[in-house]
Amino acid sequence: MSESKSPYLRSVLGSIPAYKPGKKVIGPDGRSIKLSSNESPYGPLPSVREAIARAAADLNRYPDPGAAELTAALARRLDVPEDHIGLGAGSVGLLQQLLEAVGEPGAEVVYAWRSFEAYPLLAELAGVTSVRVPLREEPHDLDAIFDAITENTRMVLVCNPNNPTGTTVREAELTAFLDRVPEHVLVILDEAYREYVRDPQVPDGVALYRDRPNVAVLRTFSKAYGLAAVRLGFLVGHPPVVAAVRKTLVPFAVNHLAQAAGIASLEAEGELMERVDATVAERERVRGALLDAGWTVPPTEANFVWLRVDGDTLDFAARCAKVGVSVRPFDGEGARVSLGTPEENDVFLSVARDYPERR
Ligand SMILES: *Cc1c(COP(=O)(O)O)cnc(C)c1O
Repeated sequence: MSESKSPYLRSVLGSIPAYKPGKKVIGPDGRSIKLSSNESPYGPLPSVREAIARAAADLNRYPDPGAAELTAALARRLDVPEDHIGLGAGSVGLLQQLLEAVGEPGAEVVYAWRSFEAYPLLAELAGVTSVRVPLREEPHDLDAIFDAITENTRMVLVCNPNNPTGTTVREAELTAFLDRVPEHVLVILDEAYREYVRDPQVPDGVALYRDRPNVAVLRTFSKAYGLAAVRLGFLVGHPPVVAAVRKTLVPFAVNHLAQAAGIASLEAEGELMERVDATVAERERVRGALLDAGWTVPPTEANFVWLRVDGDTLDFAARCAKVGVSVRPFDGEGARVSLGTPEENDVFLSVARDYPERR
């Protein structure tokens, strides 16, 4: 018997770190620049803010559980049937819904590593065994991922572009892989950064899933649409997969404000995509400046850059923090730095240019 007074809890919780609130980083002049979570640096558009304010007048009733209007708007926008759209409280919510849908004793999920930090946590919580396949130089190794598929594999996650490296898998490679994966294995293309992709060889998952019943695409309003705080993501897939995530959604988790914000954002898409273009321009400028300063930075199709700082990662993050810039360090590996406004990026570059251990 344990000495502690805790009731019986699943042992897996012991391996999951307790939530630690991130410390706000503040520079000498009071400046605080958050480049650690790949959010949009821009606040909501006036039209979206107004839609949220209007929806806020109507909070005593439960939201539409099926989010009919938002689902219809997404289906129109993507030119897919409405029963091909599933919603979640962020795409992380959908990942949890998916893992709950496939998770049974012995089930395995295969994904590249390093990739999105949420994958291992959510898999463990769902009781699904993670099989991690190392990246090859930075990009995905789809052959090794294919080789890791067994009769226990229920799901494969392909993060494209990959978080935190920003690297992509291209169309020829991805379709060859999808053609080989057994059809009982669900392949999820996590396209959280799709709107930032400019390489024409990087496929749009919504084109790829159509004739593949075991392929589905995850997208989010948290990044390009600048709505990280409202928690809204969607899945595009075939009806059995969509029906599964609709069943495993926590009832009403896609709340009334999120539904209104999503609809208004689709209406304002042109304006939002101008901001994405600005971030893409910053990406090229910042990466160019880093290369000029002697860093090795993999080409990135997302709204962040990846610096492989190895053993100096925490030191580098501390240097950034000194001037009020928070980045996302992965101890012993590297730092992921989101693209902010040009002024914010210049503050980051001032540290990166001077960093003595640059490589
Ligand atoms: C940021 C991100 C998401 C989005 O998560 P939300 O829950 O939609 O905010 C999903 N996948 C990856 C790889 C991400 O980096």
